[in-house]
Amino acid sequence: MSFTLHGISVSGGIAIGRAHRITHATREVSHYLVEPERVDAEVARFDAAVKTTQDELKTLHEDLNQHSPAELGAFLDLHWMILSDATLSQTPRQLIRSTRCNAEWALVQQMDSLVRQFDEIEDAYLRERKQDVVQVVERVLKVMMAAKLAATDSQSVYGGKSGSIGRAQHNTQEGEMIVVAHDLSPADMLIFKDHSFAGFVTDVGGATAHTAIMARSLALPAIVGIKNAHGLVAEGEWLIIDGVAGVLIVAPSDHILDEYRLKAREVALKREKLKRLKTAPAITLDGREISLQANIELPDDVAPALEAGAQGVGLFRTEFLFMNRSDLPSEDEQYEAYASVVRALAGRPVTIRTLDVGADKLDFAGGKAVEHMRSQANPALGLRAIRYSLAEPQLFMAQLRAILRASALGPVKILLPMVAHAHEIDLALSYLQQARMQLAARELAFDAQIKVGGMIEVPAAALSLGLFIRKLDYLSIGTNDLIQYTLAIDRTDEEVAHLYDPLHPAVLQLIAQTIAMASRAKIEVAVCGEMAGDPIYARLFIGMGLQQFSMHSAQLLEVKQAVLQSNYERASGLVARMLHADEPAAIRATLEELNG
Ligand code: PEP
Ligand code: MG
Repeated sequence: MSFTLHGISVSGGIAIGRAHRITHATREVSHYLVEPERVDAEVARFDAAVKTTQDELKTLHEDLNQHSPAELGAFLDLHWMILSDATLSQTPRQLIRSTRCNAEWALVQQMDSLVRQFDEIEDAYLRERKQDVVQVVERVLKVMMAAKLAATDSQSVYGGKSGSIGRAQHNTQEGEMIVVAHDLSPADMLIFKDHSFAGFVTDVGGATAHTAIMARSLALPAIVGIKNAHGLVAEGEWLIIDGVAGVLIVAPSDHILDEYRLKAREVALKREKLKRLKTAPAITLDGREISLQANIELPDDVAPALEAGAQGVGLFRTEFLFMNRSDLPSEDEQYEAYASVVRALAGRPVTIRTLDVGADKLDFAGGKAVEHMRSQANPALGLRAIRYSLAEPQLFMAQLRAILRASALGPVKILLPMVAHAHEIDLALSYLQQARMQLAARELAFDAQIKVGGMIEVPAAALSLGLFIRKLDYLSIGTNDLIQYTLAIDRTDEEVAHLYDPLHPAVLQLIAQTIAMASRAKIEVAVCGEMAGDPIYARLFIGMGLQQFSMHSAQLLEVKQAVLQSNYERASGLVARMLHADEPAAIRATLEELNG
């Protein structure tokens, strides 16, 4: 029976494919008793699933390419070892024989018992390893389910069947997997970059959570906050994601499928047409030049950025280099990553943001740190971003040295996330000075005049901007957090997503004042939050006087189209009027007029 579910659209486009549920094993398996004469066959079924899973893990390891996160290999090895240990590969066999329970039930019972043992371990890092046991068990369960269903794939969050590794196709691919999960972390999304999925839906999450941002960067149609998609959708079921309307259609009829195939073709055609704008300079109708740059998470993202005609990288979210691994990247490893971006940009500028972990980006290297962050009452208000870096000077200094070294190869700027206090900047600058001296002592080259900017994403910074202007070389407005912190709305929480309003008069005032003050002080200002990549707001920002936008490559050409159709003089008049209004209806009406 066909039905529809509604959620928050985070990424446009249409995806048609079969559901692949990222499951929580314990809740999914069937429990039944096996006839005495079937016990041997049940044990054999279990053995076969373990063997298939071991082979899959091995093949995945062999198929890793040089762009895969370095720790993925170690991670796959660890999972192979966990699975091959007698506690998982032998004990469930004994359970099947002694209690005649089915293979899945035996495996989950054993998993529960292991998880209980892990829970008693004092060491927080080791305690967290229980997640690996759960993931391994989920993989074996999926192999068993797949064998039963015969027809469905057995991909999991960290891997696929052998041979499936490769970048996602950025157009609608019918018949691909649509991931259905209760929740996905930004680290999960990073792994999706190496796999082919048509789109994803989750029960929880907000439109500017980092998971959603990653979906947008991959141009994957996605809907979050559906609340019960994971409970209602069956493995292998046909799904349509209408990423524009935020609607998931489950088990669509042939008629609906045909309709969406047509829509998907139109979307693909529109994207194809936009490609013509790649080399056109972004200039308003009345001649104002606008710089459109790209937001990236990993060095590999530079290629699509250049493909979209980006004039540089306006935001490199370096924290993604620290995810899906158990150790921290060394100075040299970071240098290689930053240097490869600088080289690939061939003279175009790159703004490298120092580590912004915390809030919804908890899964990063350093188990102890993660454990500490998880125990914070409110990670979004806790030891996040620059606060974390200043609390971990060695880690911060290593990153600063790596960035400085890369600055010898081309134009690089440093960006400090979430600054709110003068002393944070003073301290960060003194660490930078120490890093310079250390490199000079090692006789390594760097740009001695490297520019240092700050993210304006906390209202305190926007409201005491003079201070930041005096201490910094440039500013970059992070609208995602600025909205979150101004409106006291957790950007990852679907329950309050309807209150996350970029057009709230307080938000508009803070953005407009920041742009105006920076322009008066003649220091550069950019917007790099998700608002910059939404063509609806292009004329609004242009009217506020903004000349630098940074967004994910997938959005760049659409925003360029909006820029080419705008008129700065007209936009500034309408925006001035908008800023005098505080009635939401009046603000929206003016935005419509602006975009009309
Ligand atoms: C922002 O807050 O707008 C921003 C660009 O940073 P992030 O989304 O990584 O928090
Ligand atoms: Mg931010």
